[in-house]
Amino acid sequence: RTHFLSLSLQAKMSRPVQARRLEGTDKNIWVEFVKLAATYSKVNLGQGFPDFPPPDFLKESFVRALSGENYMLHQYTRAFGHPPLVKILAQFFGKLLGRDLDPMTNVMVTVGAYQALFCCFQALVDEGDEVIIIEPFFDCYEPMVKMAGGTPVFVPLRLKAPKDGKLMSSADWQLDPAELASKFSERTKAIVLNSPNNPLGKVFSREELELIADLCVKHDVLCISDEVYEWLVYDGKEHIRIASLRGMWDRTVTIGSAGKTFSATGWKVGWTMGPNRLLQHLRTVHQNSVYHCATIAQEAVAQGFQRELELYGKPDSYFVQLPKELQQKRDWLVQSLDAVGMKPIIPEGTYFLVADISKFKSDVPDVPDSDEPYDSRFAKWMVKNKGLAAIPLSAFYSGAHKNNYNHFIRFCFAKEEATLKAANDILQKWKREKTSP
Ligand code: PMP
Repeated sequence: RTHFLSLSLQAKMSRPVQARRLEGTDKNIWVEFVKLAATYSKVNLGQGFPDFPPPDFLKESFVRALSGENYMLHQYTRAFGHPPLVKILAQFFGKLLGRDLDPMTNVMVTVGAYQALFCCFQALVDEGDEVIIIEPFFDCYEPMVKMAGGTPVFVPLRLKAPKDGKLMSSADWQLDPAELASKFSERTKAIVLNSPNNPLGKVFSREELELIADLCVKHDVLCISDEVYEWLVYDGKEHIRIASLRGMWDRTVTIGSAGKTFSATGWKVGWTMGPNRLLQHLRTVHQNSVYHCATIAQEAVAQGFQRELELYGKPDSYFVQLPKELQQKRDWLVQSLDAVGMKPIIPEGTYFLVADISKFKSDVPDVPDSDEPYDSRFAKWMVKNKGLAAIPLSAFYSGAHKNNYNHFIRFCFAKEEATLKAANDILQKWKREKTSP
């Protein structure tokens, strides 16, 4: 009898334990590179988060919510968003979009923009549906589409040669209109747009957005618009919300993040905005998974937006001050990199900057026939040998295209002056060692 039991136990254990939908989604660049940075880095410009504090008014809102008289803030709140937060988001973004938003049906709060994305793909993408993703892209779009049973279809931003002697700009990376159009078919359910774009910092122009919008309308395709870096736009550029273009409100879900907006990525408060015909299905996913987000963090973010509504466009507004400060940090890093010959691509937005590592290839010789893209080996070598952490650009490409753009790495410049100075010291020293071995 014991013998029989152990046989049947063995038989059970030999079948795969994981669900089929996980196939091909187990690798995660952040798990690998965050660990490398934690082990080796002296200066971490890898993962995207500020190393400076959030604004005082936001921290104070949190403390008030935490220790104030309203102890019900320690309990559950409304599943689809704490009422004060959805109300202020509807008011704030309604003004920007030029339309009345119903806080209860046009807005839903999520656990960061990450869960907002997950809700979109689970709610809107069916088995066999195609989803167009513009490369390079925030890496989770691909596995999330696959987990929903969909097929990602990739279209690259193509690098146009910059003008002689000029540094490259994220604006030099452009969609080929004919190539983009060729990806739309009757199987296309949605396109993912991320402007300002992580990792390049590209801010899509009105013409580019209109091109995408026209194709969406023509082919009856939905748009998942990840706008988490909406306030981080430089040199007087304008962030345009695709939901505000003709015919797009009814087919767009716009995603935002308090983490990026208020420099508090650990709070994990995000949101989706859109027509009820789409959001009602996102609510179904939300109620059957997360159900509810942290009440106190939502209350504090609501108060942060209340302040920003009152100061909108004024010099004291955080949404005015933060990009001003970050633009300066961007310029420092551009200078540091340019001085050592690691050619920077000047970003128009976000807090990321991609740089060309071609001139450093002699330090990290290529291994022919390696499966791993060169930039990935370079970034690992750099953190281990120089103590400087960055992310390889190939991490933001699909498997088949990882080797097309494998000589770039991404830096995050949402860092204190001292951190950027320490990065500069590493780069300068490296350059000296290169020229006088
Ligand atoms: N979208 C993009 C483009 C991002 O860069 C990030 C964070 N790195 C997210 C979504 C996720 O945001 P959150 O931290 O609010 O979940």
